[in-house]
Amino acid sequence: MKRKDIINNAQRLVIKVGSSLLLTQEGVNFLFIERLIRDIAHLKRENREIILVSSGAIGLGKKELGIDNNLGALPSKQALASVGQTQLMNLYSRFFQKYKLYTGQVLLSAQDLSRRSTYLNARNTLLTLLKLGVVPVVNENDTVAVEEIKFGDNDTLSALVAGLVDADLLIIISDIDGLYTSDPKKNPQAKFLPEISLITKQIEEMAQESCVEGRVGGMKTKINAAKISTHSGIPVIIGGNKEKFLERLFSGEKIGTLFFSPTHRLASRKKWIAYGKSSGGKIVVDNGAKKALIEEGGSLLPVGIKQVQGRFQAGDSVSLVDENNLEFARGIVYYSSKELERIKGAKSSSIEKLLGYKYSDEVIHHDNLVIL
Ligand code: GLU
Repeated sequence: MKRKDIINNAQRLVIKVGSSLLLTQEGVNFLFIERLIRDIAHLKRENREIILVSSGAIGLGKKELGIDNNLGALPSKQALASVGQTQLMNLYSRFFQKYKLYTGQVLLSAQDLSRRSTYLNARNTLLTLLKLGVVPVVNENDTVAVEEIKFGDNDTLSALVAGLVDADLLIIISDIDGLYTSDPKKNPQAKFLPEISLITKQIEEMAQESCVEGRVGGMKTKINAAKISTHSGIPVIIGGNKEKFLERLFSGEKIGTLFFSPTHRLASRKKWIAYGKSSGGKIVVDNGAKKALIEEGGSLLPVGIKQVQGRFQAGDSVSLVDENNLEFARGIVYYSSKELERIKGAKSSSIEKLLGYKYSDEVIHHDNLVIL
């Protein structure tokens, strides 16, 4: 699909805005919020469905309580987020009301997306809100998020939400206008990249070098979000830093960097395997098994397993890594880590002898496997 068609045909949009746009040194950027909601109202009139993923809770909490130093400890951030999230929703509902739109708050934690039941529940709630014409505003549930399993940044969250609701397009708006070959603030030779058809290693390296917003996120997390989203079959636009960004984008101007999605849409269950569930452990497989999984669409057998890392139960999603510790797939295991310790490297015909029982010849069936 061409750029124009992707944008024109995008019916369900996930739009992510970062704190740096909502909050400036001077305080809340009312002008930005007003324009954002006006543009959203315009897109709604074109019969598009919108989910807004918005940061800003911690920043607004700081502002409200008059705290300007950096509170490192997690409980302090959580407390600030609790204060700031109310402020954030107050702001949004005021502006949405002005355009006669309803909004609703949806706070998600990584755990919610890790269990199939809560994942589906979150999906149903969001889809119901859309059906009711509401513009849901999503943020991470910062007040209860545990550091180790936090999404951590709303770029990643927005990509997961896009996958969760089968969006047609993810738009990440920030204070940078897209991807450059290197940081344009440091290197005047840096070239703007308007379109990316595949996120290669080279592209990822550019993002390491290029603009950092100085808050959570930066280009690196944005590229990572683009990877998750395009892999789920959803194209991404990263841009902003321009007056009336959304208005101009939807009136056909070529602004922002568009990441095409090379794949067909992953089936919903596969999306959940790949991204919904925080992986409980790792299985190191040998090169032969890796090749069979990637090139022949095979299943993972115990014979291909070299090492088992971490603890997990049968039914958990685990990462498959190669001999260089590079993650290349995720899948749902039929055996626990304990059981795999006993059968790794063995032929499937000896599983029963080794364990005294057998659930299956495969450790991960190819239906439960997603190559990343
Ligand atoms: N959830 C955080 C907040 O609302 C922001 C995370 C991010 O900026 O990516 O403050």
